[in-house]
Amino acid sequence: MTSVIGELVPDLFGEGYANKGDELLYSLFVEAVEQVPIAISITDKKAKILYVNEEFCRVTGYRPEDILGENESLLSDKRTPREVYYDLWRTISAKKVWRGTLCNRHRSGERYLSDLTIAPMLNEAGAITHYIGMHRDITQSYESEKKVVNQKLLIESVINSSPIAMVVLDDRDRVILDNHNYKALVSDLDKGEPATYFLQLLRNEMGDLWSELQSKEQGFSNREFKVESKGNHKIRWFSCAGNWFVENEVNADAFFQNASKQYLILTLTDITRQRRQMEELHIQTLKTIMAEDERVRGIRETLLGAMHQIQMPMNQIRAAEQILRHKGDDQHAGLLQILQQIQQSGEEAVATMQKCIPEILQTAVIPINLNQILHEVLLLNNQRICSNDIEVHWQPLAQLPTMLGSENRLRILFKQLIDNAIDSVCKSDGSEQRLKITTDTDAELIYVCIEDSGSGIPVEKRAKVFEPFYTTRPMGVNQAGMGLVMAKEIVNQHQGFIEIDPDCDRGCRFKISFPLHKQVFKGVE
Ligand code: FAD
Repeated sequence: MTSVIGELVPDLFGEGYANKGDELLYSLFVEAVEQVPIAISITDKKAKILYVNEEFCRVTGYRPEDILGENESLLSDKRTPREVYYDLWRTISAKKVWRGTLCNRHRSGERYLSDLTIAPMLNEAGAITHYIGMHRDITQSYESEKKVVNQKLLIESVINSSPIAMVVLDDRDRVILDNHNYKALVSDLDKGEPATYFLQLLRNEMGDLWSELQSKEQGFSNREFKVESKGNHKIRWFSCAGNWFVENEVNADAFFQNASKQYLILTLTDITRQRRQMEELHIQTLKTIMAEDERVRGIRETLLGAMHQIQMPMNQIRAAEQILRHKGDDQHAGLLQILQQIQQSGEEAVATMQKCIPEILQTAVIPINLNQILHEVLLLNNQRICSNDIEVHWQPLAQLPTMLGSENRLRILFKQLIDNAIDSVCKSDGSEQRLKITTDTDAELIYVCIEDSGSGIPVEKRAKVFEPFYTTRPMGVNQAGMGLVMAKEIVNQHQGFIEIDPDCDRGCRFKISFPLHKQVFKGVE
């Protein structure tokens, strides 16, 4: 046994120690200090090394004979900032324990990090006699710690540079990690914690599937949601994807018992631009369909109008013919023949026109959200609305139930009513240019209200506007007076009801209602 410590003990603890003490205890103490797996050195007041244990020699690479009598500064790599040494000496000189990390140099020249504690040793008078230093080489654990920190920084910078909002949630929906884009959503969306908001939407939409996927740790993707911010009513679309993963717990409780926790990585991709593009494309398609429908309708109305116009003189001719036939007068036999010929060719002309009336295509009957249809019709009219500076009050009921019907026909219905409203607003000389559209429901019906601030329809004309070929405006190419006839027809096909609100004293308000549960569609012409 190296007994340098043995020689030092009387010096450290006074001469009486060996005499007083138990021999066995004394040798045990010496043995323990020698073998303890921490590098121990004892110095004088100026850091001259008087004793080192085995572990010190192992950690520093110096043998006792190389280092005893040297200053501890022999270990210094000179990279440690001076302030650290000042602090070290200030602390220990004040009889306090100093603890810190120094950069040391191994005998071989290799650097290592030393986790060092220095404690002053005092004599009975309370004066410092020696210092005891205890240090560990923490280079490896420091490197591992740094690697973890670097990895975390790397992960953070990768997820922060992602254009997608990302958030990691624990099993109690608490945000554990998020990126810049996610943080931006907190203020942008005005919905509190965005993750909580989206989780609720996802759980509502997915129902039991949510817990099924969660228990199997299967992800989900492409769940799209429309989000309207409360303040500016800005509509944004998000596509949500999620993946569950399990991480082993690292706290003391889990040291002997493996425990794990489930986390969810939720990604929120803003797809508003793509949605808008799709919507624009959809609107373009609708415009084409509507234009074709209008063309067909125009031809139908022109032919029906012409047939209607012919019918009047034909009726008069038929009456004249009957009068002449009744008289039985040979004198008018020639005239009677001419009248019969005119009538016949008139009937042939009407039959030919009848054949030329183009068919309106049958459309599928599907569940329809009227808010969607009205929104599309507003978009179709967007240019006219903006160029005429019309203020639109669009107040759809948030959770409007669907109804069974023909999407195309209903679109034509609302397009007709909104077109009329815009025409009326543009033509009126009132200061207010307003169009208000609302939807509502009760236990029986779905309601749509289309209101404008135009000149309105006089009370005596309100019933007539639903009659064929009646118009309050000058007849023109698009003013055949069939628009509201067709509108009423479409409403009837859907078992609905349309009226002009008698209580509306300014402008005009059309009230349309459709049965909620009847859902019987009578088919198109
Ligand atoms: P130094 O001139 O030795 O010291 C720098 C400054 O420290 C000085 O300007 C002075 O202000 C102050 N200082 C130095 N000695 C004293 C003193 N006796 N009283 C008051 N202030 C003083 N250093 C290491 O680098 N690695 C170690 O592992 C290490 N272990 C140590 C263990 C013990 C028990 C003690 C007491 C000291 C230890 N030191 C260690 C500190 C070491 O003694 C040196 O102070 C340090 O290495 C700086 O050395 P230097 O030659 O660069 O400067």
